[in-house]
Amino acid sequence: MQARFHDAWATLPASLQSALEPIMSANDFPAMLTADQVKAVKSISGLDDDALAFALLPLAAACALTPVSHFKVGAIARGISGNLYFGANMEFSGAPLQQTIHAEQCAVTHAWLRNEASLVSITVNYTPCGHCRQFMNELNSGTGLHIHLPGRPASTLGQYLPDSFGPKDLDITTLLMDPVDHGYKIAETDALTQAALEGANHSHAPYSNSHSGVALETADGTIYTGRYAENAAFNPSLPPLQAALIMTNLAGKDCGAIRRAVLAEGSQPMLTQWDATQATLAALGCSDVKCVTF
Ligand SMILES: [Zn+2]
Repeated sequence: MQARFHDAWATLPASLQSALEPIMSANDFPAMLTADQVKAVKSISGLDDDALAFALLPLAAACALTPVSHFKVGAIARGISGNLYFGANMEFSGAPLQQTIHAEQCAVTHAWLRNEASLVSITVNYTPCGHCRQFMNELNSGTGLHIHLPGRPASTLGQYLPDSFGPKDLDITTLLMDPVDHGYKIAETDALTQAALEGANHSHAPYSNSHSGVALETADGTIYTGRYAENAAFNPSLPPLQAALIMTNLAGKDCGAIRRAVLAEGSQPMLTQWDATQATLAALGCSDVKCVTF
């Protein structure tokens, strides 16, 4: 089992430990449970869907990177497929606080990057901040997304975000997590470049049309891809680098050991990710960053 889970694991009830052991003992545990695994874990542990999501929160929070706050937040997103996706807050020393990722953004983006079609619920160990409520209002699940918090009755995003402003107010019909393929092409065949392009092709940028993707190569040669996710309110947009860092971190890899990075975006975009991508990667110790355009 990955060392980061050891402390949280020790707090789990024995029945849940025995149910999760075959899944989490793998060193490459991808911080998610498939629908079949969820079914098996529920049957062995006796937990229902909601109780299982709550019980998994300490494990999700164990994925947090909190050099600034030391405040660990965990989130579990449940997809309509039945899969469960971990999320945790992520901060980066040396980068502005605006580059921080919240646990809800992490779990949502994790599900999206694994091509989950839509979310049913999100379970979090602390109440979602206003920024995350707005971020989740971009999702194709709309205000019907269920929000589960410890000690509170199950509720919906609509109840946590009354009088909401969202994509529909701007006549946007393709929502976050809806399948898209923008069809951009780049001739260069380098795998990292093509991964960044794939991120851009599936990115959500209906407001600026400045689609972009980032691909990161870790020390062992594995590639993690991120897609840009815009928001109707603009500010809770999630840059493509953050999405790629989410996948790197959740895979158990060190975000401070990125060997090479590629940003793919348009040749004359209305807005560019280049400066922010380069600066945040520099804070993480990665200077081999390239921008390729389509
Ligand atoms: Zn938040």
